[in-house]
Amino acid sequence: LVGGEPHYLEGLNPPQREAVLTTEGPVLMLAGAGTGKTRALTTRLAHILSTGLARPWEVLCVTFTNKAAREMRERIGALVGDSVEGMRWLGTFHSIGAQILRRHAEVVDLKSSFTIIDTDDQVRLCKQVIEAAGLDEKRWTGRGLAGLIDDWKNRGLTPDEVPGREAHEFGEGKAIALYRAYQARLVALNAADFGDLLVHNLTIFRTKPDILAEYHRRFRYLMVDEYQDTNVAQYLWLRLLARDDEGKTGGNVCVVGDDDQSIYGWRGAEVENILRFEKDFPGAKVIRLEQNYRSTPSILAAASAVIANNEDRLGKTLFTDVPEGSKVILRGVWDGDEEARVICDDIESEQIKGRSLSDMAVLVRASFQMRSFEERFNTAGIPYQVVGGPRFYEREETRDALAYLRLVRNPDDDLSFARIVNKPRRGFGDKAIQMLNVASRMNGTSLTGAARFLLETSELKGKAKSAMREFLDSLDRWADAAKDKRPGDLAELVLEESGYTDFWKASKNAQAPGKLENLKELVNAASEFDTLEGYLDHVALVSERTSDEESGQVWLMTLHAAKGLEFPVVFLPGWEEELFPSGRSLDEKGKDGLEEERRLAYVGITRARESCRISFAANRQVYGRWQSALPSRFVDELPEEHVDVASEPGLYGVAAKSLPSHSQFHDLVVERTESGGGYDTPGWRRAQRAGRSGKAPIEGSATLIASSAPGQSDFERDQRVFHQKFGTGTVRRVDGNKLEVEFDHAGLKKVIGSFLSAA
Ligand code: ATP
Ligand code: MG
Repeated sequence: LVGGEPHYLEGLNPPQREAVLTTEGPVLMLAGAGTGKTRALTTRLAHILSTGLARPWEVLCVTFTNKAAREMRERIGALVGDSVEGMRWLGTFHSIGAQILRRHAEVVDLKSSFTIIDTDDQVRLCKQVIEAAGLDEKRWTGRGLAGLIDDWKNRGLTPDEVPGREAHEFGEGKAIALYRAYQARLVALNAADFGDLLVHNLTIFRTKPDILAEYHRRFRYLMVDEYQDTNVAQYLWLRLLARDDEGKTGGNVCVVGDDDQSIYGWRGAEVENILRFEKDFPGAKVIRLEQNYRSTPSILAAASAVIANNEDRLGKTLFTDVPEGSKVILRGVWDGDEEARVICDDIESEQIKGRSLSDMAVLVRASFQMRSFEERFNTAGIPYQVVGGPRFYEREETRDALAYLRLVRNPDDDLSFARIVNKPRRGFGDKAIQMLNVASRMNGTSLTGAARFLLETSELKGKAKSAMREFLDSLDRWADAAKDKRPGDLAELVLEESGYTDFWKASKNAQAPGKLENLKELVNAASEFDTLEGYLDHVALVSERTSDEESGQVWLMTLHAAKGLEFPVVFLPGWEEELFPSGRSLDEKGKDGLEEERRLAYVGITRARESCRISFAANRQVYGRWQSALPSRFVDELPEEHVDVASEPGLYGVAAKSLPSHSQFHDLVVERTESGGGYDTPGWRRAQRAGRSGKAPIEGSATLIASSAPGQSDFERDQRVFHQKFGTGTVRRVDGNKLEVEFDHAGLKKVIGSFLSAA
């Protein structure tokens, strides 16, 4: 205690204190980005623990990502010390759901050793179910069914609960039957998908009141961060846990959210959950925070100006006392690679100025954007850390290795069995595998069970038989070893003995060395856990990978993954129409889609503490095809007075407000003058038509025209042209904006007119 007041209250503003000290009854903290919601929530938890209102295992606290859970654990530890160790129920919805499900798996016909399958396996299973139903597999894809089932699970619906009319959503009226068959397959495999982690919980709570009552007694306090992104299933889950039907027990629930940061609508999140909260928990105290402690005034102003364009919002104002800092920096660049180069240069110069790499983050809209950054980081030797996105655990070799480990833990895991039974090759032909499948169906056993059965018969012969025996013996041996070996040692043993490591050692594949490194890394990762189960659960649940050296690496992640985080310097590349806002979300969801994209822009800008740098490219390669791009409409929405247009040599200057609305962009000309590796300004500017036709290119330079596709080409047959990659050439064919050009050195190529200039 400091002056009669607990030290952790120091520095909190009055509404934050109120949130901390109002421990009894429902509390809704509704406030904008960076206003200290998470900090208040963390302090509240520390307060509950340190005043003895509850013991660490009696508090349920849900965070949005594993990273957020880790950070919260650390902060609470700093405030209350060791008692944080006992906080078993601090994690994401999924990780807590998984824990609960393991304790009562039998209620939903699973064993507590069930496997958590990932999206790939989910799709594969769906395919099998579609095939078994005799449906046209071209028309009805596994991915489509998996998506539909996910939607239902996000809504908390079991096959029995899906409204009958939705049977027609898929598979000629068989949608619900397919869902049921899929669930039956999961039970047979002793497996659960992500959605099940919560939906099974709902089933358990609803069918076993005594179990639910046990949790009512256990969880004296419940808290949820990023509440605006909960979906129906999560909402129902929380409501079941938070109070009983008569509202007699529980009710000490505190949720925290910001309607402007709701960005998971595509995953079934419903911002209405915030509005419903006051109805479900009558008498809820609503606390609003308005002071932003994170960002400089310009950053906050930019974010507020952008989000103000949304109609669908509760609306709130934010202010900050943070001293005036630099403005938001905006710049246009030639293409994605140049964008990566420019951002890397910035990162390096910040580093030279003494900033730590981990203080900087590049936040992309789409994961494909990561590649050019990863490559550039690699060339420049800048250590970086990818959060989310294409992950370590999704690579072929890690998935294989995990399949081995999963099978060791759960011999009924057919997906894993099928994945590795003949990898490396053990001499099981298609025939042997087919026979296994038949035997498994006939006997109603898993593939492992079928294999054991087949060994007793004379169906399997010769090499296949001895190989199968050896494989099953190995499985038994590893399962034995699993009892007393640590997960890291076990992983190493299994990979060695199975011949899997040797398989890659012998491979001529150019990626084999990298794959071997990844296998080593997997053993390292497993070594950090006490049990195999703990490790496999962790793998199934992590949506991000972090190494121990967080200090020395630039962060690279999607905007979605950046929620709740903050960084001194934030780069926001790819602010172009079609990419951001994403064309798909506009096509599919119209205005709602656009507003969700805009909230994502708001989330992006508000991650920045000191510096926010937005960029857009004039040309973008999307799925291998070059397209000319227009600056995002969100760029137009930035407030001029808070934006600095980057004008250092090497960058394109862009007068933010002189950007015409995107519909007029075919009038823009990008001039690019090659000078000592960099480029000179002025870059973007409105094309005086004269500039386009009249100005002769300076030697060694090119005038490039970004025209909106499909544009009419300005070129004619037989005209001499210059292309930045292929050099000079002669136009052979003109088809709208698509041209065939015979290049002097590169030969005949198809190119886009936008990439050419008159030579
Ligand atoms: P988001 O909506 O992005 O999740 P948030 O509302 O959860 O943001 P926090 O992350 O809790 O905001 O806080 C933002 C920053 O402001 C953090 O660096 C935090 O430490 C700081 N902060 C919060 N409250 C205060 C305070 N009362 N005094 C000083 N700094 C504060
Ligand atoms: Mg937060």
